[in-house]
Amino acid sequence: MTGRQQTPEEPRDPLERLLGLLDSIPEVSAQARPNVQVEGGRDDSPTWLTGRGWRVFARVAREATSGGREIAEFELRNGETLRASFDPERKLVFLPFSPAEAYVNYVTEAWTSSDPSRGLSSRQLNAFYRVKRLIPRAAQIRGRRMLIRRQGIPDFPSWPLDTSVSQLLRFYAYCLLLARGDAEAEFRWFWPDSYRAAVILTHDVETAEGLPLAVELADLEQALGFRSSFNLGGWYKVDPGIIRELTGRGFEIGMHGLRHDRSLFSSRAAFDAQRPELASLAARLGAEGFRSPSTYRVFDWLGELPISYDGSIPHSDPFEPQPGGCCSLWPFFIGNVVELPYTLPQDYTLFTLLGQRSPALWLEQADRIVDEYGLIHALSHPDRGYLGSTRNRDCYREFLVALSERSEIWKPLPRELATWWRRRDKAHADEPQVSRATARINDGVGEVEFRPPAGAQSLPGDAQ
Ligand SMILES: [Zn+2]
Repeated sequence: MTGRQQTPEEPRDPLERLLGLLDSIPEVSAQARPNVQVEGGRDDSPTWLTGRGWRVFARVAREATSGGREIAEFELRNGETLRASFDPERKLVFLPFSPAEAYVNYVTEAWTSSDPSRGLSSRQLNAFYRVKRLIPRAAQIRGRRMLIRRQGIPDFPSWPLDTSVSQLLRFYAYCLLLARGDAEAEFRWFWPDSYRAAVILTHDVETAEGLPLAVELADLEQALGFRSSFNLGGWYKVDPGIIRELTGRGFEIGMHGLRHDRSLFSSRAAFDAQRPELASLAARLGAEGFRSPSTYRVFDWLGELPISYDGSIPHSDPFEPQPGGCCSLWPFFIGNVVELPYTLPQDYTLFTLLGQRSPALWLEQADRIVDEYGLIHALSHPDRGYLGSTRNRDCYREFLVALSERSEIWKPLPRELATWWRRRDKAHADEPQVSRATARINDGVGEVEFRPPAGAQSLPGDAQ
């Protein structure tokens, strides 16, 4: 599983890549990493291991020797308890699972295989899309509301915010520090300068009628100092004048697929057939980014799209026809494509399905993401019934006004964020644009805390 994010020349642990320690891991590197004791073998298929306040989906490794002191405890569904331990004599950490595998199983959404009852089957989805255009929109909304009432919001990933990857990353850093015998280590900060978090605004334009509304939305954003991206579809005619105007004003154009249905991911043959057309649409629009229609996705295939970055994977979204989530508040790589997961409830979810009349939930979520030093990624639509309605747009404005006053949040275009994530990934310790942060063991609670780079607070727009 871990192989999918690695290149042959440069095999890299995906979790190590996310953490980005600056000083090299000591010569005994294989041993200095949290060592999973594989004596006796690992179970064949992954399962849930529940720790205190979080859980991972991974294959179980049973410890052959049970020396050292316990650092964490995990419970299996059958009630069996597994220990994570640290042996200070040998400077070895024993874990009942591989942290890299647990990370990959979060971000690839491999955990969904643990719950096949969730969502609709592939055949049901195909049938649904054949008849969907015949169902009035109001009836579709009623249907979605009923489905949510019937199924409820699942326990995992937590909604609206899931901190699984954040917890795993800090646990992993804790194990690394123990194994190295250090109380702290420097790592590449997640964002440029001393920004605490980042925010990007992306929009999918659903109809030709949404295009002039996109320009109105751009006016609103520009007045508050924001730029955003508009993902356009191949199923309506686009006035090139609108693209010129938006890009001329510093906005970005992305791609929302050839047709608004599930066809791209319905089969491998369909995917291969659409790819050349997607490449020419991307060239026509000047698009570097992509969002799949209705966020349908097959993880590995997203990495084969003719794009630089994708924004189709939710951090946690039980409301989409393909529910799920990568549980990550940071970007990650799918092959050479940078994934920018969306991390706020969509406008449709907030205003239409949940009937909210204020941006309170968005603002609260943004605060919690800043606390985790993550990415705030808002996905919305300029069309009628979305932000095209005055009431919804007023809520969106209120949300932007609050964010515009937060100078500790970086506000790049999505494509700039993707470029940054590549740069950070490749950066050496002496790279001046990458700031140094500290991961430090908090002795009192046996956990690691991340300390952002010191230094003067950057002003918005300083970076890039
Ligand atoms: Zn759409």
